[in-house]
Amino acid sequence: MKKVLILGGGGGGAILANLLPEEEFEVTVVDRDEYHVFQPGNLFIAFYGDSVEKYRRPIRTLLKPHVKLIRDEVTEVNLNDRKVKLKGGKSLEYDYIIIATGANLDFDAIEGNREILESYGDFYSTLENAEKLHKTLKEMREGRFVIAIADPIYKCPPGPHKGAFLSSTLFERMGVDVDVVLALPFPHAYPSKTISDIIEPELERRNIEVHTFFTVDSIDVEKKRIYSLEGEELEYTVATVIPPHEGPEYKVEPSEVKDDSNYLKIDKYTCLIEGFDDAYAIGDCTNAPTSKSGVTAHLQAEVVAERLQGFDAKYSGRTNCPLITDGMGLFIISDYDHPPIPVRLSRFKRLLEDLFVATYWDAIRYPELWQPIFHAYFEATSPAKLGERGW
Ligand SMILES: Cc1cc2nc3c(=O)[nH]c(=O)nc-3n(C[C@H](O)[C@H](O)[C@H](O)COP(=O)(O)OP(=O)(O)OC[C@H]3O[C@@H](n4cnc5c(N)ncnc54)[C@H](O)[C@@H]3O)c2cc1C
Repeated sequence: MKKVLILGGGGGGAILANLLPEEEFEVTVVDRDEYHVFQPGNLFIAFYGDSVEKYRRPIRTLLKPHVKLIRDEVTEVNLNDRKVKLKGGKSLEYDYIIIATGANLDFDAIEGNREILESYGDFYSTLENAEKLHKTLKEMREGRFVIAIADPIYKCPPGPHKGAFLSSTLFERMGVDVDVVLALPFPHAYPSKTISDIIEPELERRNIEVHTFFTVDSIDVEKKRIYSLEGEELEYTVATVIPPHEGPEYKVEPSEVKDDSNYLKIDKYTCLIEGFDDAYAIGDCTNAPTSKSGVTAHLQAEVVAERLQGFDAKYSGRTNCPLITDGMGLFIISDYDHPPIPVRLSRFKRLLEDLFVATYWDAIRYPELWQPIFHAYFEATSPAKLGERGW
């Protein structure tokens, strides 16, 4: 039996644990939290008023019975000695390790950002903060709701845009005169010009005010102003600033396996941590040059599961990030060889997104059952096949 230690029972870690056959692997998952959180649920709580309970499940209930779960916090990983230290004092050993502890959101990196998080809530950090943001927005009668992005690398690249579209619908339904403002550090309304050209008319139609080349520098909570490195300033009534993200805070030996933002340096195809053949990292904690998304974590988990079983599987860099307005949707589809392909907003894709959300818990519990369906979808919508024609 190969001893596999998976750090993190989120999108990547839980799927990987469930994909490893119990006849061949002794699998242990370590997570500091009791719950696995479906993070896109933040949007539905903040802007639709859904309940927190809908978007979290105890990790134990998602893992197959043979998978061992330890509830504790990882404090140190030594890849040279194959040892992991936990806050509770335990030390764990392994034959193979997979680090899947996600990205950390640094609310203290920008002056004033923790204060606005505590005052208004947000839709990136926790389900409870999303609930708080919903309460804040429901009390607005006029003014400006500003969504700003502090750093170009953050999870779910269309997340802030979804927030802008869904909040504008919320205010419309409330019948209040609140302006929605989106401030981004990019030259266009979306990191990719192709996607930007598609969504700009929709942003305009909704009267969403877009500020490009706006890299958040600081926030003056007294004056209610956000200042950018480029010298612009934005006034807000309520604001949420998606903070800079980084990789694991805990110590990893050798330290060279982390980059300047603490992300784990991996081979983008195999997910092996640089310099090791028994250590992988998947999901938001890596420096893979692709979107930080649940789909990425899922596909990387499949690749690692196959590699641990002796197959030469490789991750293509495929992304499938959904961008939804209230009634329409599109998927941002790319891979390492293809930038985002042209896509159209449609009601059918909004429905597909709802289907993905509805299948989420089942797909985590029984990834082997959903694999053929997802693979058929990914095959049919591969960037190489859709190419210039788009979808
Ligand atoms: C608002 C929003 C909308 C999103 N929408 C989408 C979407 O539509 N589609 C999509 O594909 N992706 C979406 N994402 C992104 C997606 O949720 C993440 O990319 C995905 O969850 C990453 O999976 P992961 O396994 O890398 O990390 P996570 O799911 O974050 O899991 C990390 C786990 O590690 C645990 N952990 C962390 N540190 C430690 C430690 N020191 N010790 C022990 N345990 C630890 C955590 O408790 C957590 O359970 C969205 C994200 C947000 C915030």
